[in-house]
Amino acid sequence: MKLTVVGSGDAFGSGGRLQTCYHVALPGEEVLIDCGATAVIGMERLGLVPDRVSTIFISHLHGDHFAGLVWWLLHAHYVTKRTVPLTIAGPVGIEQRFTSAAETLFPGSPKIERRFEMRFVEYTEATPLTVGSVQVTPYEVSHPSGAPPYALRFEAGGKILSFSGDTEWVESLLPTAAGADLFIAECFSFDVQVGYHMTWRNIEKNLDRLGAKRVMLTHMSSEMLAQRQEVRDPRVLLAEDGLRLDI
Ligand SMILES: [Zn+2]
Ligand SMILES: [Zn+2]
Repeated sequence: MKLTVVGSGDAFGSGGRLQTCYHVALPGEEVLIDCGATAVIGMERLGLVPDRVSTIFISHLHGDHFAGLVWWLLHAHYVTKRTVPLTIAGPVGIEQRFTSAAETLFPGSPKIERRFEMRFVEYTEATPLTVGSVQVTPYEVSHPSGAPPYALRFEAGGKILSFSGDTEWVESLLPTAAGADLFIAECFSFDVQVGYHMTWRNIEKNLDRLGAKRVMLTHMSSEMLAQRQEVRDPRVLLAEDGLRLDI
């Protein structure tokens, strides 16, 4: 499993980072985890090919995690003239939220006659869903976004990759991260609790309980970015746009 960080930023452009998007290459298959508004830009920068992506998994319905689907559609239709099917997995209501976002930003775009099939699949809490060679198990977290938000646990090729999505600390992160080869954890702030997000102190305190082999911090605010060198646990690494990791 090869992970490429396409975007490791928050919703506010902190540190000039692109919005949340991870690319995962598996033998014979490429998938994305989250698709922030800047996803196509980030893939273009890194030489990743959108048409090779067969599935996009969305953690929750905030624009910095799913709005890129709108530009993805335009790019697939007008630039690459995509013909291969695309599956989008996400919280209940994802198709309607995508359609209304696309209609708002590019009126008429949801009705373009596409050359490729776009198939939407909805998650069911704690129920494994298999798409291609990937099994994903969603666990609900705490982060109001108009539909249930999820942390996602991916199993493919004997490896486990898990992702917190956006959330304040919740115990459902434990089954998400247990035994994971890599747990990608949103870490919005260093020690000041802000809204429905995690702090480094929340994560640090729970590292043993999480039980992941490695933890990668992401979705960092400017306050967290300014203090990130104070994170010194050997199990923890810091995400940055363009980072590639073998899992
Ligand atoms: Zn976010
Ligand atoms: Zn969010």
